[in-house]
Amino acid sequence: MAGKGEGPAIGIDLGTTYSCVAVWQHDRVEIIPNDQGNRTTPSYVAFTDTERLIGEAAKNQVAMNPVNTVFDAKRLIGRKFSDPCVQTDMNLWPFKVILGPRNKPMIVVSYNGEEKQFAAEEISSMVLTKMKEIAEAYLGSTVKNAVITVPAYFNDSQRQATRDAGLIAGLNVLRIIVEPTAAAIAYGLERISNIKGNKKNVLIFDLGGGTFDVSLVNIEEGFFEVKAISGDTHLGGEDFDNRLVNHFVQEFKRKHNNKDISGNPRALRRLRTACERAKRTLSSAAQTSIEIDALFEGIDFQSTITGPRFEELNMDLFKKCIEAVENCLRDAKMDKSNVHDVVLVGGSTRIPKVQQLLQELFNGKELCKSINQDEAIAYGAAVQAAILGGGIGNEKIRDLVLEDVTPLSLGVHSMGKVMTVLIPRNTPIPTKKERVFNTTVDDQTIAEILVYEGERARSKDNNLLGSFDLCDIPPGPKGVARINICFDIDANGILNASAEVKSTGQKSKITTTCNKGRLAKEEIERMIEAAERYKFQDEQYRKKVKAKIALENYTYSIRNRLNDNKVNAGLHPADKKKTEDAIEHSLEWLQRNHLAEANEFEDKMKELENIWNPIVVGKHRPGGDVGWGRMKGYIVRNCNRYKLKLGMT
Ligand code: AMP
Repeated sequence: MAGKGEGPAIGIDLGTTYSCVAVWQHDRVEIIPNDQGNRTTPSYVAFTDTERLIGEAAKNQVAMNPVNTVFDAKRLIGRKFSDPCVQTDMNLWPFKVILGPRNKPMIVVSYNGEEKQFAAEEISSMVLTKMKEIAEAYLGSTVKNAVITVPAYFNDSQRQATRDAGLIAGLNVLRIIVEPTAAAIAYGLERISNIKGNKKNVLIFDLGGGTFDVSLVNIEEGFFEVKAISGDTHLGGEDFDNRLVNHFVQEFKRKHNNKDISGNPRALRRLRTACERAKRTLSSAAQTSIEIDALFEGIDFQSTITGPRFEELNMDLFKKCIEAVENCLRDAKMDKSNVHDVVLVGGSTRIPKVQQLLQELFNGKELCKSINQDEAIAYGAAVQAAILGGGIGNEKIRDLVLEDVTPLSLGVHSMGKVMTVLIPRNTPIPTKKERVFNTTVDDQTIAEILVYEGERARSKDNNLLGSFDLCDIPPGPKGVARINICFDIDANGILNASAEVKSTGQKSKITTTCNKGRLAKEEIERMIEAAERYKFQDEQYRKKVKAKIALENYTYSIRNRLNDNKVNAGLHPADKKKTEDAIEHSLEWLQRNHLAEANEFEDKMKELENIWNPIVVGKHRPGGDVGWGRMKGYIVRNCNRYKLKLGMT
């Protein structure tokens, strides 16, 4: 339950390309708009010589600053540098990724004139911080507790890393829930009256910017039971964009003397933006064109692409999505005729070919498009947050129960180099399983326990999550000492593995949390501290800009008054000259010192006020069209208005 003074618990859909935040309030879910009024916020973070930008502001400047604008952190989070997906993506990202300690990918950017390295968790934490701030501005209170969503197919490391990102952002992560389950809540809650008393099998088809999930969920009177999941954590709209980018890179080569734009981050970024736009257009038009001025070496680029060509470029990926649906049905042992509704979630489900293939698989069944494809996940997360945050008296959600499943089998490396499964995939979570193993050599005193996830028989074909040593095994002939290995998966889908020696009468126990290449406690602490520092720097920067604008506005407001004939006529020539000089000086100073500190702008403002105020306040000069008393009030009121507008009073 959330603590007192921690504000309402929020639900965050941390997406690859866009994120969305929602809250349960006034007996319903409210999707929270950002400062631009948009209900989703780009998952982008940009670094410049002077500031850090997150969300809309970061995305808006991407063409000017491609190498220092980071997106797709979700595609990196919890992965190793050597992961083939990371290696492929790296070639297409304009920002640099290098090999860090423990095979961790590190993002390299230039920030405030210095080279900085960030883990994907840190970038995601910045996006989460932004979502937290958006919620705080909307709710007018601080927010501490949150439910964050991850793709159903995220493995243990990716879930842990997402949780760590929340921690770095200063959030108390109440629960990590999977995206299709969150979408199922949105679907179920909207139709709760329809399904009361009867059972519904719902297939959630969630194809977003970077990930793809399929879940088969059984909904029965507020009980959401995930029967099976399938998908790909590395398949989505960005892959379709990549195919288009590659297509046009080749076309550019053909048309322009083999010139290759792929090594030019800025050109690639501009082409990618145009490709994404073209892709969206092709969801509602048969053909579209791309026009980019001076794309590379001053050469303009124009081309067209048709819907069928786009589909052909991506057909293998679309088919992969359909295969995942078939696998999901197979795992759930359910015939497609027993699926009541096929629900579309995620921006990429707007692609007509994807819809067509899916509809064909379900023998022409009408697809459910009525839940908001971009907001459904945050909606479900907000409901779960409200339940876990406590204090919910609403009967609509009070009795709601979610039961998720494990996406992959979990086991240990054992004799014969095979993986012995302790927890098979699609097991409902939370769960705890134990199994006893024997020592394999005489006088064995130490056992290295290797934890794997995956479906292949040989350990090496699966994903090594981590390892730990069990020491102090009493020496003896092989097979005598018995080692009990326990896997405990919590409601977030996060695994804790432990081992214990059970020998004759004597017990020795070591419990170790798996080291899964995730961040160490000290690293998280360092990142939390860095996040605070960046936040402070952001605030300082904002303060500086505010002070600069205030000085600029104040200077111009006085100049405007001087240019006003009525005001002008009321001033003594000496005062007029003094004011004009002060204005000139202020504008010149501003031009030379645009990077000055907030207090310097404030000092300059005071200097100007000290010149101007006595002229306005202290002297009443008769003559001119306007009585000085009236004019004084006019000028003071106007200056105050400027100050008020800037929040300076
Ligand atoms: P999401 O992660 O659910 O926000 O999905 C974002 C992805 O959906 C991005 O790759 C978008 O390019 C893609 N998308 C959004 N609208 C459309 C559309 N009309 N047609 C095709 N893809 C779209």
